[in-house]
Amino acid sequence: MNISEKHICEHCSKEFCSKATLIRHKKTTKSCLEIQGKEDVAMECINCKKFFAMQYYKQHIEKCDIVFEKVKNEYKEQQKEIEKIRGQNKKISETNSKLKTELQESRLVFNSLTINLRCSFLTL
Ligand SMILES: [Zn+2]
Ligand SMILES: [Zn+2]
Repeated sequence: MNISEKHICEHCSKEFCSKATLIRHKKTTKSCLEIQGKEDVAMECINCKKFFAMQYYKQHIEKCDIVFEKVKNEYKEQQKEIEKIRGQNKKISETNSKLKTELQESRLVFNSLTINLRCSFLTL
């Protein structure tokens, strides 16, 4: 007779193959929790989508909210950084096009100078 292999819920008589699943069942299964007389069935954390019995849920949500806020803030910071980089990029491309025009202008000046130089050589 080996009954240790079976894990039976003392509340709803369901059988489980492991102690861990039985414990999980007793904490999270709505119908079983109702049999246990616990009004507070498993609650889902809106942040991390995990299930908790009410007593753990309250504890968890406080911590999880902090984590969630942190993640949210980090995300906001990242967005700010991205905006900053975008702004910088815009400035850089503006400077680039300005430099391009300057380069073109100086090329034109250089060209006319060389032409002038050639002409003066020819006339010598
Ligand atoms: Zn049960
Ligand atoms: Zn959570």
